[in-house]
Amino acid sequence: MVIVGDSVRFRDDLHLLPGYQAGKRPQPDGASGEVYSLASNEIPYGPLPGVLDAMTNRAAHSHRYPDPASVELVAALAARHDVSVDQIALGTGSVAICQQVVAAACHVGDEVVFAWRSFEAYPIVTRLVGAVPVQVPNAPDHSHDLAAMRRAITERTKVVFLCTPNNPTGPLIPQAELVGFLNDVPSNVLVVVDEAYHEFAVASGPAPDGVALTGEHSNVLALRTFSKAYGLAGLRVGYGVASEQIVAALRRTALPFGVNSVAAAAGVASLKQQAEMERRVAEVVAERERVLAVARERVEVPQSAANFYWLPLGERAAEFAERCEEVGVTVRAFPGEGVRVSVGEPIANERVLRVLADFG
Ligand SMILES: *Cc1c(COP(=O)(O)O)cnc(C)c1O
Repeated sequence: MVIVGDSVRFRDDLHLLPGYQAGKRPQPDGASGEVYSLASNEIPYGPLPGVLDAMTNRAAHSHRYPDPASVELVAALAARHDVSVDQIALGTGSVAICQQVVAAACHVGDEVVFAWRSFEAYPIVTRLVGAVPVQVPNAPDHSHDLAAMRRAITERTKVVFLCTPNNPTGPLIPQAELVGFLNDVPSNVLVVVDEAYHEFAVASGPAPDGVALTGEHSNVLALRTFSKAYGLAGLRVGYGVASEQIVAALRRTALPFGVNSVAAAAGVASLKQQAEMERRVAEVVAERERVLAVARERVEVPQSAANFYWLPLGERAAEFAERCEEVGVTVRAFPGEGVRVSVGEPIANERVLRVLADFG
């Protein structure tokens, strides 16, 4: 069949949208046995106790639309963080809230400042609305260069993303430095403190608390997620805590019914399992320290306060990822820069360490 007509007209800047490079899916094949994914910062456990039951019960009502405001989950989160329900914004994963905040704040040409390397979604959500990403290189120790980020803020800056601990490099922003930055930034610039790995940071030592800072700074939005420590990455639910004004803006730019009923029920049930969540997180953190001690005999690994670590292998990053794949482990390579490895099952962590030991 011949299709006739003009081609449809897309935005002329569509090519500027960087595609999201997802962590490689494990492809089990009979020959090499079980394949482990250390590519997407998931934890190696299933949902917390009782969560699957809550999901199953809610799934029986899947012919109904979800409660558009997810009242029950919002109330549980407000109670958890001791804020009002109007200070909680839910999202289809916290990545959706990253998108909503830029959509709410930026016109074409406005600037969004963030560190680089950092979370890959930041340039995507920035370009999506025609705003301009301003990427500030990390310090030599792979942490955010906050002084340089402060200098990058101009009249046109609407949003700053801080990622703590930073994905993919690992370091956190110490509380005092975070507070100093917030005190220094114009209060009409919205500062997003992305704390996707907060629970791991808390288990690792003194950690910043973006949620607590929202009480003192009306321009701060703290992001948390159920995808990492709570083990619900497949369900897509995250949230933000901020002033009522910011939350109202986020609700305006949200896709209606973005949080499905099964995910909301899983969130509520997960919050009742705080102790077990913390136990699992502590296990991951202990394993991370064990793995890092060995890895550091071979390469300089930056401090990590999350459930992953960064191997700054530069030009050999892609090659290292290939070696890992050969032994049945997927990791996340950033060609020319480094490799991010999640802390997973001990057998998988061991395989990576063995590859590292043999890596010329
Ligand atoms: C994983 C991650 C998120 C959130 O992911 P969702 O699954 O969308 O909640 C947000 N920020 C960073 C830095 C992450 O690594």
